[in-house]
Amino acid sequence: MPRLERIEYLFEPAGGGAIMRSMPNPIPTEAQQAELLTAARAAQHRAYAPYSKYQVGAAVLDDQGRIHAGCNVENAAYPEGVCAEASALSAMVLAGSTRARAVLVVGTGGAWVTPCGGCRQKLREFCAQDTPILTANDTTMGPRYTLAQLLPQSFGPDHLQQP
Ligand SMILES: [Zn+2]
Repeated sequence: MPRLERIEYLFEPAGGGAIMRSMPNPIPTEAQQAELLTAARAAQHRAYAPYSKYQVGAAVLDDQGRIHAGCNVENAAYPEGVCAEASALSAMVLAGSTRARAVLVVGTGGAWVTPCGGCRQKLREFCAQDTPILTANDTTMGPRYTLAQLLPQSFGPDHLQQP
């Protein structure tokens, strides 16, 4: 099987600008997937979703092997609510990383939940095209995608890179 190689842009937190680097994004190990699922489910149980009753949890594996979780936080002014993926990305940035190696999202019920359109764009900021996006429902892991599958032909930080 050919090795998956790609070119990506990586932003260093120190503000040194974009660095182009070839780096594959492997599928997380089973142990990492289990950790992501545990973290996402724990976050899901903390979700504040009094309006939709649809609790979502997300977990992000960063480039240092750490996991950051988030949950959806709704608001009486509906558009002001925050998705679980956005919460998890905020936690990752707060912890000092701007690079997501894998993402897992778990929703409520039997259906597989994938990131909403807005979150796909938010993920684009910190993920590579081949970053695995894992799904889960109440009981089991679901289909796995890459960011490029969920957000093809996307706009990202590389488009704003100075020549
Ligand atoms: Zn979203």
